Amino acid sequence: MLKKFDNPIYVTRPLLPPLEVVTKKLQEIWDAKWLTNNGAQHQLLEAYITQYLNIPALSLFNNGTIALIVACQSLRISGEVITTPFTFPATPHVLTWNNIKPIFCDIDPHSLNIDANKIEAMITPETTAILAVHVFGNPCDVFKIQEIADYYGLKVIYDAAHAFGTEIDNIGIGQFGDISMFSFHATKLFHTVEGGALAFKDTNLKPRIDLLKNFGIKNEEMVMMPGINGKMNEMQAAVGLCVLDCLAEERQKRKQLLEVYHQHLKKIPGIYFTQVPDINVTQQSYQYFCIRINAQEFGKSRNEVYDILKTCNIFVRKYFYPLCSDYPCYKQLPSAHKDNLPIANQIADEILALPFYGELPVADVEQICHNIAIIHQNN
Ligand SMILES: *Cc1c(COP(=O)(O)O)cnc(C)c1O
Repeated sequence: MLKKFDNPIYVTRPLLPPLEVVTKKLQEIWDAKWLTNNGAQHQLLEAYITQYLNIPALSLFNNGTIALIVACQSLRISGEVITTPFTFPATPHVLTWNNIKPIFCDIDPHSLNIDANKIEAMITPETTAILAVHVFGNPCDVFKIQEIADYYGLKVIYDAAHAFGTEIDNIGIGQFGDISMFSFHATKLFHTVEGGALAFKDTNLKPRIDLLKNFGIKNEEMVMMPGINGKMNEMQAAVGLCVLDCLAEERQKRKQLLEVYHQHLKKIPGIYFTQVPDINVTQQSYQYFCIRINAQEFGKSRNEVYDILKTCNIFVRKYFYPLCSDYPCYKQLPSAHKDNLPIANQIADEILALPFYGELPVADVEQICHNIAIIHQNN
């Protein structure tokens, strides 16, 4: 029998440090009377995250979307950029806000990331960059993508919003490509309520990025360029410092839940997990746990499973459905046509994000898996 939970279970819950710890941190801000513009908390957080992510340089932002807009500006990206339709709306919207045309490329059915083997066919004389997403924290084929970029003289920007802490061969994910964007939104594993960062290998980029996020103001007498307000404030940075202290335990708990999910769900026909072929992922981000449901083999469609779980008070999510290529603002683009994106269209109908956060009891995960098994058996 299906178990109905007494209280609703959501896909995620924000990681909340003890309130006393946060108020103590806020007292430091009150004492300093410095609320934003590269204050003490900001400087500390920037240093800690640079170290945590194992990257040469970092710049904090008020959110990930503004950070990604600035990334495009700082590299002077224009014309066309090849990207994925299987992502959060911010990814293609950032291109639009930069007056750049997004070109949608199909995805790999195992990693759910942009299919590096299909990028070359989409390059035109207008192409200036590749904007790829490490979907659910699983790394893209960063080596193949860099090879293509080098051959055609393109920049590479990664939307690493899900990939906080991901490492390949013990190298921080932010060391790949020209710039990587991290999001510190409340729903992300590490968060600053709202926030984000740009990571980059080329430390020469930092002065320009830091100018661009502060209106281009160099000093009291000089405004260098048309910048924007992308600054992270001291309250955000303080919350981030407190969340950082809770991160190791949260990751450990999510690692355990991931194992429980795998152990129970792998036995059910028609359920597939994401896989990253040919890349040595030495550390995972544990941002989301998503499965694919093959309707024929499982016996019910993803939408049916979603509806049934909802009646059990389990609120799963269809990440990422609809595809960006189906939004009214993009669907008229030639690259958005379904014939160009067969895999992305299939995956968008199969994908389901299951509840995944440290506070979720193991017994609840077992019960969720049990419910999914029953939905399969009830065909
Ligand atoms: C969360 C997210 C963003 C946006 O980040 P914000 O910090 O909310 O602006 C961008 N891309 C992806 C893939 C995301 O999940």
